[in-house]
Amino acid sequence: MKKLEQLYEGKAKKVFATDDPELFIVDYKDDATAFNGEKRGTIVGKGVINNKVTNFLMQKLEKEGVPTHFVEQLSDRETLVKKVSIVPLEVIIRNISAGSFSKRYGVEEGIVFDQPTIEFSYKNDDLGDPLINDYHALALKLATAEEIETIKKYAFKVNEFLKAFMKENGIDLVDFKLEFGRLSDGTIVLADEISPDTCRFWDSKTHEKLDKDRFRRDLGHVEDAYQEILRRLMGE
Ligand code: ADP
Ligand code: UDP
Repeated sequence: MKKLEQLYEGKAKKVFATDDPELFIVDYKDDATAFNGEKRGTIVGKGVINNKVTNFLMQKLEKEGVPTHFVEQLSDRETLVKKVSIVPLEVIIRNISAGSFSKRYGVEEGIVFDQPTIEFSYKNDDLGDPLINDYHALALKLATAEEIETIKKYAFKVNEFLKAFMKENGIDLVDFKLEFGRLSDGTIVLADEISPDTCRFWDSKTHEKLDKDRFRRDLGHVEDAYQEILRRLMGE
C-alpha cells in the first residue's frame, strides 16, 4: 500500500490518498481544538492514543454487527480505512446530561437519563455545526430517510455496546459523537473516530473526567486522562 498525496488536513487528523482508489490513510495529530476552533493547543501523545483506541473499538463494533471504515492499523498514528463520502451529520448520543445539553436546556450535568437521546448537528464549520432534526436533514438532502434510519440504528447499537464495555472498565459513558459515511456502493458504515476527543468518559467511582473536557475546561492532567483510557481499555 503506497501513501500518496495529502487530500485534507482537519483539526485532529490528516487524510491521504493511496494507490487503491477505495482506500485512504488517516494520520492522527496531537493538535487539540475546542469551541469551533477558537481554543487551540497540543495534547502530547493524543494522536497515538486516539488511533489505537479508535481501532480497538471499531474492531469490537464490527464483531457486534456495526460495519466500520476500519481496514488495518499501519503505525502508531496511521490507519488504513475504507474511503467514504461522509454524511455531513454529527450524530450525538447521550446517556447522562453534560456539555451543550446542560447549557441548552438549563440543567445540571450528571443527570442519568432513563433512555439514551440522539441528536444531529449539521457538520459545517462555517455555521458552527448547528443542531438540526431529521426533517431538516432531509430538506437539506444531507441523507435519505432510509440512511437516517440506518444511522440511528447503528448509533444506538454503538451506544449499547460501548456503554456496557466502558462500564466493565470502571467508566461511565456520558455522551459521544459519531460520523457515518457511504462506501462507493452506497453502504453506510461508521467512520471517523471514537476516542476521548469525541466521547465523554467519567470514572464510575470518582466521577473524574477522562476526556477532552480536561482540555476544554483547563482541568489539568489532560495527557494523563488520555493515557488512563488507553490503559483501562487495552492495558497499555
Ligand atoms: P475536522 O474535519 O472536523 O477538522 P478531523 O481533523 O478529524 O476533523 O479530520 C478528519 C476528516 O476526515 C473529517 O472531516 C472526517 O469527516 C473525515 N473522514 C473520517 N473518516 C473518513 C473516511 N473513511 N473517508 C473519508 N473521510 C473520512
Ligand atoms: N463532540 C465532538 N465533536 C463536536 C461536538 C461534540 O466530538 O464537534 C462530542 C463531545 O466530545 C461530547 C459529545 O459530542 O462527547 C456531546 O458534545 P456537546 O454537544 O455536549 O458539545 P460540547 O460540550 O463539546 O460543546
